[in-house]
Amino acid sequence: MKVKLSNGRSIPIEMHKVRIVQKTTLPPIRQRLRAMEEAGYNTFLLRTRDLFIDMLTDSGTNAMSDNQLASMMVSDDAYAGGESYYKMLDAVKDVLGFEYCVPVHQGRAAEHLLAKIFVKPGGVVPMNYHFTTTKAHFEMALGKVLEIYREDALQTESTNPFKGNLDLDKFQKVIDEYGADRVSFVRMEATTNLIGGQPFSLENLCGVRKIAEKHGIPVIIDCSLISENAYFIQQREAGYADKTIAEIVLEMMSHADLIYLSGRKSTCVRGGLIATKHKKYFDQLVAWLPVYEGFITYGGMSSKEIEAMAVGLREMVDPDIASSSADLIEYFVNQMVQRGIPAVTPPGGLAGHVDAMKFLPHIPQSQYPAGAMAAALFLASGVRSMERGTISMDRDEQGNDVLSDVELCRMAVPRRVYSMSHIDYVVDRLEWLLHHRDLVGGLEFYHEPPVLRFFTGKLKTLDNWGSRLADAFAADFGENY
Ligand SMILES: *Cc1c(COP(=O)(O)O)cnc(C)c1O
Repeated sequence: MKVKLSNGRSIPIEMHKVRIVQKTTLPPIRQRLRAMEEAGYNTFLLRTRDLFIDMLTDSGTNAMSDNQLASMMVSDDAYAGGESYYKMLDAVKDVLGFEYCVPVHQGRAAEHLLAKIFVKPGGVVPMNYHFTTTKAHFEMALGKVLEIYREDALQTESTNPFKGNLDLDKFQKVIDEYGADRVSFVRMEATTNLIGGQPFSLENLCGVRKIAEKHGIPVIIDCSLISENAYFIQQREAGYADKTIAEIVLEMMSHADLIYLSGRKSTCVRGGLIATKHKKYFDQLVAWLPVYEGFITYGGMSSKEIEAMAVGLREMVDPDIASSSADLIEYFVNQMVQRGIPAVTPPGGLAGHVDAMKFLPHIPQSQYPAGAMAAALFLASGVRSMERGTISMDRDEQGNDVLSDVELCRMAVPRRVYSMSHIDYVVDRLEWLLHHRDLVGGLEFYHEPPVLRFFTGKLKTLDNWGSRLADAFAADFGENY
């Protein structure tokens, strides 16, 4: 929620109080430099003891509610037929409107099963934008991912409220070109993660549905960040200001044949699920479930997580909860813009993002500007962010880098974890870095895994810029910060 102060300023305000905390420390600059060197300039490889504010991801790092924790105490650990599953089923029915649901151990497990069932070799999957694990699974099933976003989706500075929209003309062209039979399904990702947490509109989803239905193509929504997308529809789309988040979510779901989600995002828990209105899809899923996930009533999740997921599903449509992270991100982005930091606009739903090609214009994409920026931000602040650029793309069959459409440094804002003072600190250090950006150089791999290399790959600085940046920082702030 946002409140208006008497001076007219609007600030994000926490609609919760803190009852359990985790202590943090700010490791001083030399410790950060050492840690970054050891981590191969890959923020994924940092240990949490060496960092201050963890903005790597909003995945599984959200604060759980008292009611979620309480529910975990009464979970039913039966291998089969456990009551916890039925509570989740009821929540899925009430909140998402689907009759059939299977739990899975993570969002990517859902993608794995969907790839098995829907994606045939040579099949194509049009979508508003890919997600790393989505693309990996659909391509391993020998399908082709077609991203058919609108032209301005990748424009980092924009006023388009719905950059996550799918281009309907291109969708029709895909069907004409490949034939409807080869289109495995159309995938809409809520609060489109890799283009900066940007939502799609209900009008667009409705258009996707109309075309898909005409050609017998299933509509699948990746609902991992569904509550934020629904909040943006309420805030930004004409005709929805008076609808509740719960009503908007149900309306979105009415256009889907099947949805899946990672429980680690909007629902503030772990695990994941697939839900559908079609019994035939459910039956196909259930056939594979014991092989990859587990018995239908736990699907690779612990019963505690299933209980907390049931609560999290209901809580995510509470307007104070759906808006909690989005409003803080809006503040974050506005602060960055005011200080001349090239933030992605409009503000999205999972993080503040900076366009690293604008922040570090002297670093070519072949030297990974987004990766360099994430490493430099860590050195300047102890804030752990994530590279979302060329490092996050794997090489092509010839072994060449696939240059990413955008080079983003993503600073995730986990739900109900950090406060305005944390954000102010991050913005301040970003501003310092902006003024010292000439000190930052590129990176190159010295250890590179073949698939999803961004997780465990190691890089080194070209020209030893890490220690030069650390020296400049120490000169301005001393050795203790
Ligand atoms: C996180 C995420 C996934 C993958 O989920 P995991 O639980 O991390 O396996 C898939 N799609 C989107 C949009 C996500 O944000």
